[in-house]
Amino acid sequence: MNLFEDYHVHSNYNDHSANDLTIQNVVKRAQTLNLVTLAFTEHVRLSSNWIERYLQEINTIRQKTSIKVIAGFEAKILADGSIDCPDYYAKNYFIVASFHTNYYKKGIWLNALRKAIENPTVDVIGHIAPEPTFNIEEREIEQLGALLAKHNKVVEINAKYRLPPLNWINPLIDGGVKMHLGSDAHSLNEVGQFSSILDLVSVARTKGVQRDREM
Ligand SMILES: [Zn+2]
Ligand SMILES: [Zn+2]
Repeated sequence: MNLFEDYHVHSNYNDHSANDLTIQNVVKRAQTLNLVTLAFTEHVRLSSNWIERYLQEINTIRQKTSIKVIAGFEAKILADGSIDCPDYYAKNYFIVASFHTNYYKKGIWLNALRKAIENPTVDVIGHIAPEPTFNIEEREIEQLGALLAKHNKVVEINAKYRLPPLNWINPLIDGGVKMHLGSDAHSLNEVGQFSSILDLVSVARTKGVQRDREM
């Protein structure tokens, strides 16, 4: 877990980010901050028609910077557990799968999450948290941790939403889950900023060191 790696950044290819959040400006900003890794993870839908332009722009800029620039998408986890992303792009690019809708039923949520974790095209589960109307018990967090580790999925620590919840971190890391950081930046000054989650990072680091010692 490296504070100079940001695995969740948006751009002005969506309709709700700041206008100056161009691919070029994000990379410039990342250079100023000495980031070593930067993943663009634009909101995608099956119907998105800007994808080729977006990928081309990232590809062009990648050749002009020493930062490791990753091209990817943030795809919504649907109620049936599938992700809202065209297959071709899901298979070939970095995919963060996140809930962006409440399903109001714990069974639906858990089932959709498990399917997303088992989906080989998904790399990361984004801003994970139960919905406000239900709790996930410690035992269930452990089971999810085992499934995440089995399918080699990363859980991001998300700076925008300050997630996962603090009490998820230890059981996930104990289960062998890897974590990385995502700012979820929707404006330039949010790129690479993790000051809101230093408490979560600290717990994750301490637990990670402890786990590695025991292995
Ligand atoms: Zn999201
Ligand atoms: Zn996002």
